[in-house]
Amino acid sequence: MKRTHHCNELRPAHIGQTVTLSGWVHSRRDLGGLIFIDIRDREGRTQTVFDPSNLPKELFDRAAALRSECVISVTGKVRHRPEGTNNAKIPTGEVELGVTALEVLNMAEVLPFPVDDPEVAAKVNEELRLQYRYLDLRRPEMSRNLRLRSKVATATRVFMDEQGFLEVETPTLFKSTPEGAREFLVPNRREPGTFYALPQSPQQFKQILMVAGVERYFQLARCYRDEDLRADRQPEFTQVDIEMSFIDREDIYTLIEGLLKRVWKTALNVDIPTPFKRLSFNDALNRYGIDKPDTRFGMELVDFTEEFRASTFKVFSGAISNGGVVKALNAKGLADATQGQIETMTEYAKSFGAKGLAFIKVEKGEWKSPIVKFFNDAEKAALTQKLAIEEGDLILFAADQWLTACEILGKIRLYCADVLKGQGKLSVPADRFDFLWVVDFPLLSFDKEQNRWYSSHHPFTAPVAEDVQFLTSDPKKVRGQHYDIVVNGVELGGGSIRIHQPDVQKTVFEQVLQIPPEMVKARFGYMLEAFRYGAPPHGGIALGFDRLIAILCGTQSIRDVIAFPKTAKGTDLMTDSPAPVEPKQLRDLHLELKMAKKE
Ligand code: ASP
Repeated sequence: MKRTHHCNELRPAHIGQTVTLSGWVHSRRDLGGLIFIDIRDREGRTQTVFDPSNLPKELFDRAAALRSECVISVTGKVRHRPEGTNNAKIPTGEVELGVTALEVLNMAEVLPFPVDDPEVAAKVNEELRLQYRYLDLRRPEMSRNLRLRSKVATATRVFMDEQGFLEVETPTLFKSTPEGAREFLVPNRREPGTFYALPQSPQQFKQILMVAGVERYFQLARCYRDEDLRADRQPEFTQVDIEMSFIDREDIYTLIEGLLKRVWKTALNVDIPTPFKRLSFNDALNRYGIDKPDTRFGMELVDFTEEFRASTFKVFSGAISNGGVVKALNAKGLADATQGQIETMTEYAKSFGAKGLAFIKVEKGEWKSPIVKFFNDAEKAALTQKLAIEEGDLILFAADQWLTACEILGKIRLYCADVLKGQGKLSVPADRFDFLWVVDFPLLSFDKEQNRWYSSHHPFTAPVAEDVQFLTSDPKKVRGQHYDIVVNGVELGGGSIRIHQPDVQKTVFEQVLQIPPEMVKARFGYMLEAFRYGAPPHGGIALGFDRLIAILCGTQSIRDVIAFPKTAKGTDLMTDSPAPVEPKQLRDLHLELKMAKKE
């Protein structure tokens, strides 16, 4: 019995035809002497009916023994569902199959969790879902995610091909270049004591491809970072990795805007407006307190440094005379914040080293706060005007060094938005996408503990041309030609125009980043040498593919869009990996384990 149709195909137009469907028993109901089985495949489901008055007893008994997720083929005649029993929720809801033959292709044991009910499935413990991933992936929501992922990958390849890009695979056995995140190492059997590393990104290879004259490269590249995993990270993940020659930043913006436009159209049939807005790193921090702002709502940070410079409130004027700033935001309508919510926000402030959190609740026409008594009329008027203060508002302050003050209020802004959304006082439509380029990042950041500069992104990012002169004399002044693409407060990707002059790259490595010359030679010597043989100016970007798909699928977790993701501990619960290996395997690798004794 070979299938003639898939399970999402039959419509009233098929009525009267004899067809065969194959799939899984999605659900079984025994009603009024009949057996109703919804048969499901990848495409959808169809109702089938077993009627004992038309079927041999033996066949009916076999249907009666079927459980959820048994695999079957059924043949029967397509007919209208009886009056009043149509199911408007599924595309095949007007018809059913009057079964005449059944083949049981395989039985299924009782499942560890049901896969037919989205509400029940949503409550299933995620560890169980990961352990039985093949069942989890049968759920229509998960199968939709995989399908959308595949569709977007194809659309990406087609678009990049149209734009003249070559897809080039780069090695995943690379060498260790311990600058960024921690790497996964792979011991080399042939030469004891040497190791490969899994690449954190194809960065160096794609730049070398530019030297090789490829001009336009892309890859759906697997990358590896051995970090302690945060909620939305995976030790291995996929990037849409891109590099181009003879271009400037504008070319990258145009390319990515075109790609995302295509992707949104393909995946969601949504036309996103281009070009995207742009915001400098400084403005992003000043206004939103974060370098990946969610601009779907306001609640912007407002500066009050001038107003409070001579304030009698020493917490403010003192911070300013120490070179800091005073900033505030108005959480509109949140004057009823609970003690617990205020404590949460205070903890955010303290985690950045602040002593506490100053705030004003505007209730019953009064400003309720112990700090109000320090404010004069001009200060109050400035607050009222610049923050548009009204009854029911909650005003929150940060008085600190610029970056710290911005970051504190940036976190508080997002927290308040969540609370307000929960209370229905702030609404953000689910289908709204605010794309944004964040530009003009500082090239370097200072590490106080190690007393040295490090690259804000990576050491290959080119400085803005007019800032090159400050590379060694005043590094903090130097802006990088880096850009991030942000949507709804999520960093979708980032990239930069690269350094292509060997002398500038050497200066950055040795004099700015203070990497000893012999180490530079060992790690990056081949790159510096390549740049000496005619390296074109080039730049690129990488988009987080898993995150992109998660946004398109409207899910919070990238684990929902990866077929076989790992847990927060980096384990694969289905295959039980990582796992110990045989002593002989270790001997072959010239490795010996020294394990700390367990208590
Ligand atoms: N290699 C960078 C990253 O993985 C992206 C880029 O600069 O193109 O974040």
